[in-house]
Amino acid sequence: MAMQTVKVNVGKGYDVIIENGILSDCGKIVKKVTGKGRAAIITDSNVSRLYLQTVLTSLKKENIESESFVFDAGEQSKNISTLSDILEFLAEKQFVRSDTVIALGGGVTGDMAGFAAAIYLRGIKFIQIPTTLLAAVDSSVGGKTAIDLSAGKNLAGAFKQPEAVICDPEVFSTLPEKEFANGMAETIKYGVLFSDELFYSFNDKTTPSSLCEMIKKCVSFKARTVENDEFDNGERKLLNLGHTIGHAIEKCSNFTVSHGYAVAAGMAMIARASESLGTAEKGTAENIEKMLIKHSLPTDFDYTAEELTNAALSDKKRSGDKITLVLPTNIGKCILKDEPIQMLGKYIELGKGK
Ligand code: ADP
Ligand code: ZN
Repeated sequence: MAMQTVKVNVGKGYDVIIENGILSDCGKIVKKVTGKGRAAIITDSNVSRLYLQTVLTSLKKENIESESFVFDAGEQSKNISTLSDILEFLAEKQFVRSDTVIALGGGVTGDMAGFAAAIYLRGIKFIQIPTTLLAAVDSSVGGKTAIDLSAGKNLAGAFKQPEAVICDPEVFSTLPEKEFANGMAETIKYGVLFSDELFYSFNDKTTPSSLCEMIKKCVSFKARTVENDEFDNGERKLLNLGHTIGHAIEKCSNFTVSHGYAVAAGMAMIARASESLGTAEKGTAENIEKMLIKHSLPTDFDYTAEELTNAALSDKKRSGDKITLVLPTNIGKCILKDEPIQMLGKYIELGKGK
């Protein structure tokens, strides 16, 4: 299978390398992009059991000395106490500026290890090895890192671009179905935002090589969007498709509904509302719903329009009395629309469609 590389032109630029089986050769890439130096692998209790040994063996083959830090899997670990443990671990093991932090895991690992790499010694090198589909297509690209605070998710963090992202889609074979679906929600989002061809390809059965291709396309779309935002035209906001209502759903559920599931329903709701208001072509919402259902994702939740609106209005992404909504016009194209916040309730009501 051919290797796929996507260049991300943010900061000094880096490659996202996607290839089946590349995990057992990751040491070569680590060596190439970081040169001499040691590696600190940060990973969670599930991923360490499955893939840590493969990574350690590959690093050893390249004569890269390494130490690993394992934390309890799950979002509840993404806090200041685990971050503190990681920083103490780096210091105790005497990592220096020329060494590298490697995040081996999903979004939780990438967010926390990236934040640690951003602040330890005022910043040391960082490499991402995403092991969830969600992390591969979304959180490992763009350079956002964070931890959760008691007051909310991702409230403290930093921008930290990696030296490289190494993605081996074969590791998704061990993902629980629910976690794969979670990543599919963000994947389907790229189809709705940027390409009807990509969108309808999600009807086909995935093969190992189609999975590589799919990730490559999503990463390219995200990279291009993130790069373009340097010119401040707000294009990056497009990536929030389904997220305003999605965050409200997460909040209403006290975060028992996972991010991808919430975004899926959020996307279906905003599509139904856009269609009602005439912004989206007829049939757009139904096509999105069908695709979500095909991938075992929800298109609605039982919260009332009022509950969702109240939750959405307390979102941190809101600035002033306006809100920027991402509205589909058809499959493959969405627009940004600034609306007075009072309109949000209307969209949510229309999105409920009942
Ligand atoms: P996300 O990537 O969805 O933001 P996490 O980093 O918490 O969130 O990953 C979701 C769950 O999947 C965690 O329990 C994690 O340990 C587990 N996980 C991550 N990668 C794999 C994998 N390749 N195989 C099996 N489980 C995995
Ligand atoms: Zn998201």
